[in-house]
Amino acid sequence: MKAADLLWTPPPSGGVEALPVGKWWDAVRVSPPVGERGLELLSDDTGAVIQDSYGTLYWLIAIGSAAGWHLRGTRVLCELADEVTYLGVPPVDWTEPSHKGNTHWRVPLGPGRYLTDTRLLREALAAADHIEHGPRVEGRQLCVRCQLPTDEPVLVGAEGGSIGGAVYACARHAPEYRRHDPLVLLDALRRGPGV
Ligand SMILES: [Zn+2]
Repeated sequence: MKAADLLWTPPPSGGVEALPVGKWWDAVRVSPPVGERGLELLSDDTGAVIQDSYGTLYWLIAIGSAAGWHLRGTRVLCELADEVTYLGVPPVDWTEPSHKGNTHWRVPLGPGRYLTDTRLLREALAAADHIEHGPRVEGRQLCVRCQLPTDEPVLVGAEGGSIGGAVYACARHAPEYRRHDPLVLLDALRRGPGV
């Protein structure tokens, strides 16, 4: 795809503009550790990527091309029946995090670089999720840090030595816990949630 093929052009220089998802593209929002790893895995296959001041990455994908994703720390932003979701899009020449609010094009738009192939992105993010968050855990668990239930638990440790069970964190707080020995984690998983 050439730049001239873009049906959409980002806002002119002036500032970040809130644009609705589902009009020109859907977006995939990914929290920093998984997003960074995903970007690395995608390498030259990535399209343009926006990064906000929290380090969160946003890939633009074809409308309606992602459904049923269950990856920790990843959200597909698409048009919903009852609600409009906006994405902050920086001007095309904001390619450094030095602008107001730090939102910028982490991977700039350019000839041949715009939307990312949804299937390749899904594969890269699934691999990144596994690398960063370890074995996938089903069901809802309480985050040890914020004490809120999470549907995307990350196993972060074993509690209380040999009699304890698994300890979980939400995708947001998991990076605060250092990686444990996978065998210890699997053993904790077998024992079930800690009390
Ligand atoms: Zn949490």
